[in-house]
Amino acid sequence: MKSQDIRLKFLNFFKEKQHSIVPSAPMVVKDDPTLMFVNSGMAPFKEYFLGNAQPKNNRIADSQKCLRVSGKHNDLEEVGYDTYHHTLFEMLGNWSFGDYFKREAIAWAWELLTEVYGIDKDILYVTVFEGSDDADNLPMDTEAYDFWKTFISEDRILKGNKKDNFWEMGDQGPCGPCSEIHVDIRSAEEKAKVGGKSLVNMDHPQVVEIWNLVFMQYNRKANGSLENLPDKHIDTGMGFERLCMVLQGVQSNYDTDVFTPIIREIETITNKNYGKDEKIDVAIRVISDHVRAVAFSIADGQLPSNTGAGYVIRRILRRAVRYGFTFLDKKEPFIYRLVDVLSNRMGKAFPELKAQKHLIENVIKEEEQSFLRTLDKGIEMLEHHMDFNTLMKDKVNTIIEIEKVISGTTAFELYDTYGFPLDLTQLIAKENGFLVDVKGFENLMQKQKSRSRAASEMSTDDWTILIDDAEEEFVGYDTLEANVKLTRYRKV
Ligand code: ATP
Ligand code: MG
Ligand code: MG
Ligand code: MG
Repeated sequence: MKSQDIRLKFLNFFKEKQHSIVPSAPMVVKDDPTLMFVNSGMAPFKEYFLGNAQPKNNRIADSQKCLRVSGKHNDLEEVGYDTYHHTLFEMLGNWSFGDYFKREAIAWAWELLTEVYGIDKDILYVTVFEGSDDADNLPMDTEAYDFWKTFISEDRILKGNKKDNFWEMGDQGPCGPCSEIHVDIRSAEEKAKVGGKSLVNMDHPQVVEIWNLVFMQYNRKANGSLENLPDKHIDTGMGFERLCMVLQGVQSNYDTDVFTPIIREIETITNKNYGKDEKIDVAIRVISDHVRAVAFSIADGQLPSNTGAGYVIRRILRRAVRYGFTFLDKKEPFIYRLVDVLSNRMGKAFPELKAQKHLIENVIKEEEQSFLRTLDKGIEMLEHHMDFNTLMKDKVNTIIEIEKVISGTTAFELYDTYGFPLDLTQLIAKENGFLVDVKGFENLMQKQKSRSRAASEMSTDDWTILIDDAEEEFVGYDTLEANVKLTRYRKV
């Protein structure tokens, strides 16, 4: 089944269940100081859940563009290294605002997966909330358990803790237990290796969560206590690319037709093959992922820049450029050339891509050009600082210890002179077994910014709160603590 059809089937299924189908909201959030990018399907409906606005229809379904690169939901480090976390992805969702609840949400999810999509029941697992004996003293979600029991054998219903199975929007507001649906697409041999044990929530590339059903039935009050909501809501989110992986019988999101045309184009342009060398594969996955994030963001009107959301986009693009430069030997712009394939593939579902295609290409090309002007010099400098001889300079004939740390000064110079976002420096450092003195970098950054205002970012649960007295140059990485570990060398 082609990805186009998979998406349509989802929407049609819920249309038949009286849902209004709405287009994806823009991924870039313009009017919400608490959120920079939409990071889940429910974000655009926040006001409905809070009761501040009323939807025309209390049943809605859509495919929402999501970006998870900052705040609580930051998957950037995983992207390219695993095969199922992306920066930008589509979240298929169905919503009930004070209308149907657990019974229908569970029954329909099961019907869609097993009957409409024909997924083998024997590869599915579900989780339910086990309750908590903390201050909330929440009961186990026996309601959900009992509904699931009518569809799936009890050894496949796993109980999960508050962290995995109780969803909260933030410190306050609607919240409730959730049930996640996981697929296990391991081969029989793979399963036998661990004695058939379930690996749900264990970070296995072939045992992945595909759908989260959130049952919003409580309201978290300002004093931290819970009360029952007058209206109960359903909020579900299914990873589209993961669903495609399952339905197309492949083992990686990157082997679905969402990604293969982009990957083929990268192979053609760079003269490299996907699937032969892990380093090259990671680079190809990263680039095929990042071009989507950047292209969709520009289509939504968010251009790369030096502050705020624009800087998040810039650093994603620079990351991609560097993967191409180092691992695919591309010393000239090429990522912009992938936009054509992307807009051909996705332009139907997301017309903004087609409409903005030329702008997207031009912006990406210019960004690539400008970063490529300094990238090689920056890498040279960084490599110099990681070089054994540099580390050992002036240290002959003594017993010394060497810290495998890139100094704040170097990281800052890379940022300031060579345009290296801190996380890019960290990434290259990490590849070489080095850490970066983040604190030192930040101190220098703070100093430089004494003419402007300070920047900071705080994250609470699903919502990123930007403290607004900030010029947001720092946005996008989570580590505000110096994260320096020392690798000590002893030389006699
Ligand atoms: P995971 O545990 O795999 O990180 P999650 O619990 O963080 O997923 P949810 O917040 O429950 O994800 O989002 C709903 C669904 O969106 C998930 O079940 C998954 O299918 C999909 N999803 C989440 N994060 C990503 C991502 N980075 N890339 C692709 N799909 C994702
Ligand atoms: Mg996650
Ligand atoms: Mg999860
Ligand atoms: Mg989840």
